[in-house]
Amino acid sequence: MTGDRSKSVGWTGYTWEPNAVFKSFQTRLVLFFVALFAVVEVVTFLAVQNGIRITIDQQAQDQLLKTRGILERQIAATTDDLAQGTAILATDFGFRQAVATADHSTITSALDNLATRIKADRIILMSVDGIVTTDTGAAADAAARGDIVTLGKANAPFPFAAMTEAAAQAKDDRAASIAVLDGRIYQLVVVPILAPVPIAWIAIGLEIGNSFAADMRSRGSTVPVDVTFGFADDKGKWTLTASTLADTRRGALAVALSAHTPASTPETITLGGDDYVTVMAPIPGPQQGSKAYAILQYSLNLALAPYRSLRLQLYALATAVFLASLAVVALIARSVTKPIRRLDAAAQRIQIGQYTEKVPVLQADEIGRLSRTFNQMMEGIAEREDKIAFQARHDMVTGLPNRVAFEVHVATLLAEHTTTGQPRCSIMLLQIGRFSEINNTLGHNIGDELMRKLSQILKDRVRVGTFVARHAGNMFAISLAHEDEAVEAVVIERILAIFGEPVELDGVNVDVTASVGVARYPDHGLNARTLLQHADSAMYVAKKKGLTYAIYDAELDPHRPERLSMMGELRQGLERGQFQLYFQPKVDIASGMITAAEALIRWVHPIRGFMAPDHFIPLAEQTGNIGRLTAWVLDSAVKQSRLWSDKGIDVKIAINLSARDLMNRHLPDTLAAHLADYGVRHDRLILEITESAIMEDPVNALGVLNAFHAMGVTLSIDDYGTGYSSLAYLKSLPVHEIKVDKSFVMKLASNPGDEILVRSTIELGHNLGLRVTAEGIEDAASLAILDRYGCETGQGYYISKPLAVAAFEAFYADSQWSPKRNRRGDLERPSTAAAGG
Ligand code: C2E
Ligand code: CA
Ligand code: CA
Repeated sequence: MTGDRSKSVGWTGYTWEPNAVFKSFQTRLVLFFVALFAVVEVVTFLAVQNGIRITIDQQAQDQLLKTRGILERQIAATTDDLAQGTAILATDFGFRQAVATADHSTITSALDNLATRIKADRIILMSVDGIVTTDTGAAADAAARGDIVTLGKANAPFPFAAMTEAAAQAKDDRAASIAVLDGRIYQLVVVPILAPVPIAWIAIGLEIGNSFAADMRSRGSTVPVDVTFGFADDKGKWTLTASTLADTRRGALAVALSAHTPASTPETITLGGDDYVTVMAPIPGPQQGSKAYAILQYSLNLALAPYRSLRLQLYALATAVFLASLAVVALIARSVTKPIRRLDAAAQRIQIGQYTEKVPVLQADEIGRLSRTFNQMMEGIAEREDKIAFQARHDMVTGLPNRVAFEVHVATLLAEHTTTGQPRCSIMLLQIGRFSEINNTLGHNIGDELMRKLSQILKDRVRVGTFVARHAGNMFAISLAHEDEAVEAVVIERILAIFGEPVELDGVNVDVTASVGVARYPDHGLNARTLLQHADSAMYVAKKKGLTYAIYDAELDPHRPERLSMMGELRQGLERGQFQLYFQPKVDIASGMITAAEALIRWVHPIRGFMAPDHFIPLAEQTGNIGRLTAWVLDSAVKQSRLWSDKGIDVKIAINLSARDLMNRHLPDTLAAHLADYGVRHDRLILEITESAIMEDPVNALGVLNAFHAMGVTLSIDDYGTGYSSLAYLKSLPVHEIKVDKSFVMKLASNPGDEILVRSTIELGHNLGLRVTAEGIEDAASLAILDRYGCETGQGYYISKPLAVAAFEAFYADSQWSPKRNRRGDLERPSTAAAGG
């Protein structure tokens, strides 16, 4: 069983995609670690880079220092070489001769000769007073550069007079200096030509040029230091005379230096995209003219070259590590979020009500604990849900299915029937009599206990194949599938048998009664609701008629639509005077005189014609219209009482009250008002109330009865013998009279059983101080029996049927039961006469 995730719709209608949430959790986890790795790698990389940089800087400084040292030593050594060479020339006899004779061509060749010998770049000969006579480099040099020859043609003073003076002073007769001449930097040595006194001066120059620079460079170590020589003019514009740099970089360097002259400390200058650690130092030794500098540059580009492959490897390694960590992290993240995803899936299953699949507990850590808790939670929810579902469909007292469950059961039963064609089924409703009385007198616990016991007995005894439910507080519902009505009859018999025996409750034996209503499928309805309604209606009829059970009869069903429409007509009928009261005489048996009359309602319906009360009273009771009807009866009866007493007709009037009337607490006041209005004495009225009407709501009924009693109205228990109450119980009510039901009286003369019953009832009533009336006297023999047993009042067709007012008045005036005739003593007591016959 796996939950369908695409269907995970929350009860609020909001569709949540928890998977997406956890995916993003996973993503966040991955991102976090990836970022962490990236940072670590970048930091490592920067540290390495920085380390390299420091190393290189150190190297650069070392290299530059070393090169400067070399430069110093080189300059010094060259100066010595030059001086020696010069000394040789100065002491050369031939040369001195040539100088002395000023033989120009000899001098020139001698100087060239010397220059070659001592590898000098330039030799300048000047007179004792410092006027240049010959200059070897000037002509060629000037020609090459297209320059003005400054010294080639003699007669110009030697620009560095200080040197000749210094040489004159010096012990070794010479002066050496660095000098910028014609845009070149030279190492110059000046010596005198002695014969033996000085006859001329000679200056020998060795150019500090490209070859010198190259020489210096090649002496550097692994990473060669670039060497550049140059000088700046007054305006700070630099001229670079020689350099190991490529021409473009050399130009760039000149521009950079002109813009900013670096200090003696190392500085980084960028040339053609390469960084150079640059140190500038004046060329060592005394200087003449513009100051000449050596610019030493250490190419970081070159220095870094060996590290470049290292860096490449580092990059590759970092990338590899990074990718690997990415994969690992993704895997870990997956495995970390997997249990969470599992819990998530379980949560979704709970959401759609699936509790069976548990979350596997695979770990001993928090996740494992959470999973276990989750499973327990799931079990808890399932348990509670089961409980709620059970409670929703069961009665908690008896544990039986409740009304809802019963209806569902019947519906499924009927559905099966329509598909299988199974012939019949019966729905029975069973109401426990006097249940509220039991609850009120013995307590609700005992009431519950009774229902529990009854439910057990019903389940045990009724029959397999029936479905028993508690339909309401005092009602059971039973469904039964059967093939013929004989089975139904057996079941009903079994049910009724249960109620033949007393039930022991709290040590007391209690007689429990029941009324059963039966509705049959398909005769009485095709669905559960209708069948239940009809079973209920049948049960009502059973109760009403004092039967133990009744099968549904559409004729008697007050809920049939045409009967309901009758209720509207009833209201109209009351307004339009369609109702009449008939009066049935009640006779004092001992004297044979009419003493009272029972008011019985009649409806002369414009269409339906004359209607007996049995056709509309129960309906009015069930539809809540009885109140109106009773009000009309009370009014009419009290008015009639007034009219009759005015005419000298001395009869009490008995009025029938319904169960509903007994729940109307205002009824005693209403009646009192009517009596006052018409000026009728309270003791002129008798109220007939059935036992079952009292039992429907004993507490309220008792209140109303007490009020009537207090008013002085006579109360009579109607239809006595059809209910279940004991006479002793009835005596506890404020009643004066019982009216033995006509079913016991009508066949009194022919049925000995009835006679015993009636006799004991009369005796018992008398013993309890109650008067006894018998209704339904249909023959003289019955009247005689009643007379013999001392029954006080008689009523029945034998005396008279119910009569309209005029007929009653005539009967009262002129029948054998007339008090007027009896008073005159014309007749014998008719009852005794009849009985004696
Ligand atoms: P009930 O109170 O038991 O009234 C007696 C019924 O028995 C009357 O029927 C009466 O005509 C009938 N009866 C009287 N003597 C004999 C007899 O010797 N043999 C036979 N077979 N029947 C006899 P009715 O008038 O049809 O009334 C039926 C029921 O309607 C009454 O039964 C009573 O429960 C109810 N009812 C009548 N009028 C009223 C009323 O104004 N208000 C209320 N709430 N109920 C009424
Ligand atoms: Ca009655
Ligand atoms: Ca009656």
